[in-house]
Amino acid sequence: MNLILLGPQGSGKGTQAEMLVKKYGFNYVEMGNILRSIANSDNSKSGLVKEYQARGELVPDEFVRLIAWDHLNKQDKSKGFLFDGYPRTLAQYEHVDDMLRKFGQKIDKVVYIMISEEEVIRRLSARRTCEKCGNIYNLITNPSPNGGKCVCGGKLVQRTDDKPEAIKKRLSWGYANEVKEVAEKNGVLLEIDGKRPIEVIHQDIVQKLGLA
Ligand code: AMP
Repeated sequence: MNLILLGPQGSGKGTQAEMLVKKYGFNYVEMGNILRSIANSDNSKSGLVKEYQARGELVPDEFVRLIAWDHLNKQDKSKGFLFDGYPRTLAQYEHVDDMLRKFGQKIDKVVYIMISEEEVIRRLSARRTCEKCGNIYNLITNPSPNGGKCVCGGKLVQRTDDKPEAIKKRLSWGYANEVKEVAEKNGVLLEIDGKRPIEVIHQDIVQKLGLA
């Protein structure tokens, strides 16, 4: 089975992806990470990737297609793929569809974890980082056991890009609306209510995908 996981930052998408990969052994394709490792390597394109990532802009589709093709080809295709943070555009969706067809497979479901923009802002603006050791907490979902301070005793601060205005800016392409629309048109969209506890969401996904 091949799955695409969609959802805005703060939707818990990454956590759900991890749980599914651990339990069902999918090949995990997290494009942000793949691109980061290219940016930090001696690849001739590392500079280009770094520039896009630093600006928070999407790396061009054609480049991502080549990276994805190279990556997917090296995996054990019988395990299926779980795509996270990819595809993010219509062209990328078509590339994924095309690559899977070449393997004799298809996109089985696009799981969209829904939470409102208000909730995203509420969750992300509750994030706090330790000035001293860099530990990350969330006042709502993962508070420090040491009250207003980090376990190391450091002061907890809010990063400037976790303030509501910056969050809104970051979210402008994060929702991957084009991907959601094409998935709906193709009858493979599965919408999941993301405003529930992590385990409840996981069970819902597993059940609706018939994995249970
Ligand atoms: P993320 O780790 O998902 O927040 O992605 C970090 C950065 O990697 C983004 O700001 C983009 O520059 C790049 N990136 C991640 N996924 C994609 C993608 N599917 N297409 C193009 N660029 C991407």
